[in-house]
Amino acid sequence: MTVVLGGGISGLSAAYYAANEARLASVTLLEASDRVGGWIRSRRSPSGAIFEQGPRTVRPHGPAGMNTLDMIDDLQLTHKLIRINASHPIAQNRLIYSEQALHMLPMSLKGLFKTISLLDRPLVNCLWTDLKAPKVSKEDESIYSFVQRRLGRDIADRLISPIICGVCAGDARQISVNFMMKSLFEAEQKHGSIVKGFLAKKLKKVFSRSKSKETKEARAINDATMGRVVQLEKLAIWSLEGGLEQLPLALADNLEKRGVTMETGTKCERLTFKADRVELSASGDVREYSRVISSLPAKSLAELLQEQHPELSAELRAIPSVTVAVVNLEYPGDVLPLQAFGFLIPPEENLPLLGVIFDSCMVPKESATSTVLTIMMGGAWFEKHFGPNPTEERLLKTAVDGVKDILYITEEPVAHHVAVLRDCIPQHVVGHVQRVKRIHDYISTHNIPLALCGSSYEGVGINDVILSAKQAVRDVKQ
Ligand SMILES: Cc1cc2nc3c(=O)[nH]c(=O)nc-3n(C[C@H](O)[C@H](O)[C@H](O)COP(=O)(O)OP(=O)(O)OC[C@H]3O[C@@H](n4cnc5c(N)ncnc54)[C@H](O)[C@@H]3O)c2cc1C
Repeated sequence: MTVVLGGGISGLSAAYYAANEARLASVTLLEASDRVGGWIRSRRSPSGAIFEQGPRTVRPHGPAGMNTLDMIDDLQLTHKLIRINASHPIAQNRLIYSEQALHMLPMSLKGLFKTISLLDRPLVNCLWTDLKAPKVSKEDESIYSFVQRRLGRDIADRLISPIICGVCAGDARQISVNFMMKSLFEAEQKHGSIVKGFLAKKLKKVFSRSKSKETKEARAINDATMGRVVQLEKLAIWSLEGGLEQLPLALADNLEKRGVTMETGTKCERLTFKADRVELSASGDVREYSRVISSLPAKSLAELLQEQHPELSAELRAIPSVTVAVVNLEYPGDVLPLQAFGFLIPPEENLPLLGVIFDSCMVPKESATSTVLTIMMGGAWFEKHFGPNPTEERLLKTAVDGVKDILYITEEPVAHHVAVLRDCIPQHVVGHVQRVKRIHDYISTHNIPLALCGSSYEGVGINDVILSAKQAVRDVKQ
């Protein structure tokens, strides 16, 4: 018998993949809260507009992106896909707010050669900085320090730091370059610079393409329905009609039909691994299983293992996380100065806002009756700006004032929702790759029937956590 801990998107995905494997016998999923979906939560405003509390868009690219689209296909959600192609204003217009102005980021090759207002120079100039910078051999370092060394301080401060805020609400001075920008980091380590590494990769591709014709497998992927959709429509990002919560809801429905037992309101309190079974304490009961797939945040899993495996528990606890305040605002009519994905704010601006997403720009203009914005605040700087327990009123006022100052929206919102998402995004800090390796080595050396998935280990994006669930099902011992 297999138990999956956690009913967020990664736990649901683990149960979805495990249910296909006869070797894993019957599957039970335990979720502490009274609902599934974890951080994915879509609400409706009184007018019917979608307020996303967590994620809202997903990228379709690469094996992880295609894997999620396969799942969407299998769950018969394809008809609900909101497809945003590469020429859509959301894909084209991405902004950064710096020194009291919004600056457009270049999204084309041509744009790299033009002076951009954010940096007062063309972005392409930083390639010379990279070619001139000496190679420094390292096992890891912060993204900030890497980018400052190789591309220049202005790029680190005004471009990369806000992008890291957008990806994980984190501080680029702490996040691992070897984890989050692995290919750039390896380019320097192997070839001496990012540019040389990029050229070497391109050359290798050209040679290997001319040597081997398109393989059968690659052709099969290109012919697959969703692969063709991504290619033909030049899909940049996607979402779901009715909100992204449609995905965990469809997964839960699918699992129920396939006989997976799902228990909400059931918090796992302790795990004890015996020679031939796992004892799990939950809601005052002790149950027995053969193996465990944990999708819990590393911190929560650490508590369950503290007594029996303190060393493993300490490694898990060392993966930190940050708190984000999310404020959804709705305004009547179209009050935005332009159609765009939204804007991010560099930490050097010292503002409580991390960024603002223009949600309603995803809705076709003719059917959008209101403007919906999501303001993300705090992250790595939550306590600095808000203290430990800010009131809802204070968070709402900060968000509304921020929007007034930056977007010159003078109207008052007609609807809002405020949420504080405690410890919602794990931080993959310097040394993360080595730490995750130590965690897996410990589990394997001690022969523990435990596999891990979720945002704490292999990336925080929806695609990453779904793929990590697939891998955990492969990894878990029989
Ligand atoms: C504000 C925000 C915006 C985001 N935007 C995007 C985006 O646009 N695109 C994107 O790709 N990604 C985005 N992400 C990231 C993505 O949403 C998350 O990484 C992903 O949803 C995490 O899923 P999970 O299943 O790993 O974890 P969770 O959602 O945290 O699920 C873990 C579950 O475990 C349960 N649990 C905890 N302890 C126990 C216990 N002891 N026993 C039983 N159950 C327990 C919890 O209640 C929870 O339901 C965003 C995240 C946030 C917070």
